[in-house]
Amino acid sequence: MENELHAAQTAVHEAIGLCRAVQDGIDPGVLEKHDRSPVTIADLGSQALICRSLATALPDDPVVGEEDALTLRQPEQAEFLDRIARQLSARGVDADPETICDWIDKGAADPCDRFWTLDPIDGTKGFLRGDQYAVALALIVDGQVEVAVLGCPGLGSPEDGGLVFSAIRGSGARVAPASDPADSRPVVASDCNDVTQARLCESVESAHSSHDRSKRIAQALGLETDSVKLDSQAKYATVADSGAEIYLKLPVDSDYVEKIWDHAAGSLVVTESGGTVSDTLGQPLDFSCGRTLSKNTGVVVSNGPLHEQVLKAVMASDTSRDPGHGH
Ligand code: AMP
Ligand code: MG
Repeated sequence: MENELHAAQTAVHEAIGLCRAVQDGIDPGVLEKHDRSPVTIADLGSQALICRSLATALPDDPVVGEEDALTLRQPEQAEFLDRIARQLSARGVDADPETICDWIDKGAADPCDRFWTLDPIDGTKGFLRGDQYAVALALIVDGQVEVAVLGCPGLGSPEDGGLVFSAIRGSGARVAPASDPADSRPVVASDCNDVTQARLCESVESAHSSHDRSKRIAQALGLETDSVKLDSQAKYATVADSGAEIYLKLPVDSDYVEKIWDHAAGSLVVTESGGTVSDTLGQPLDFSCGRTLSKNTGVVVSNGPLHEQVLKAVMASDTSRDPGHGH
């Protein structure tokens, strides 16, 4: 899988460069998707670059990406598409609008026995706020995440230009500054086994994870510090790299199903750093069900030693399972 990892790292590096350039610019350019969530020039440009790069390195591998070019192909989006073209051109990639849309739509494949899953910008809301976001790319083979590259432009010191986490299943996780990919070191999760000292991270957006429930869990566990709120899979990276011991994603809306591209890369980086990932019922994340984690409910991530204790508190906090709830 070294070949695949290298291809993914190259692709993510190109995309991070574009995302940073857009974030440093004046106007990120925002469109609203059908679900009313925002999508920017950087989301679409990142997906175009990564799909283009993977198509050259691994032409037989399909990509299941978050974005598509359906809206972008409409005549009234010509100006927006032109702004994406200008960003690509600034990165040395000159292409006509049709080609750019085709690259983006290479990410419209259906999940199968071997495919890449891509979130070109995870945490778009964080990206727009100037906070954390991630470029997340993972290879899934027979329902198992085998390779992960997670670019986190907002982590690390400013001169690092962000951190890029990489993992191959069974071979551990490594991280390197985006500014110097060769300068990598192993990623090791915290060995903390005193839960009161554990640091908890969660979504910034209370619509994405229940802050009330995490507060009750933190109280039950006796955590001594307040939770840290971060957008995107930067939370997985933070647990993997000993910046926190716990990450909880606790369902707010019972109809919402988690998307594979929001968890595939992050979960492998954590497990390869020695951490543990399950859902809120203790089940492993099941990446064999298509575009969503339809068999799972929420996500519980820990440094490893604390997992059982954390999971117990998470399950005890599930008021929807109380007898008589809703009556
Ligand atoms: P976070 O960065 O933790 O806020 O998570 C961001 C991800 O949450 C986005 O990539 C969305 O795919 C996902 N998301 C969107 N709506 C919901 C929802 N209602 N519940 C949980 N996650 C959501
Ligand atoms: Mg996302």
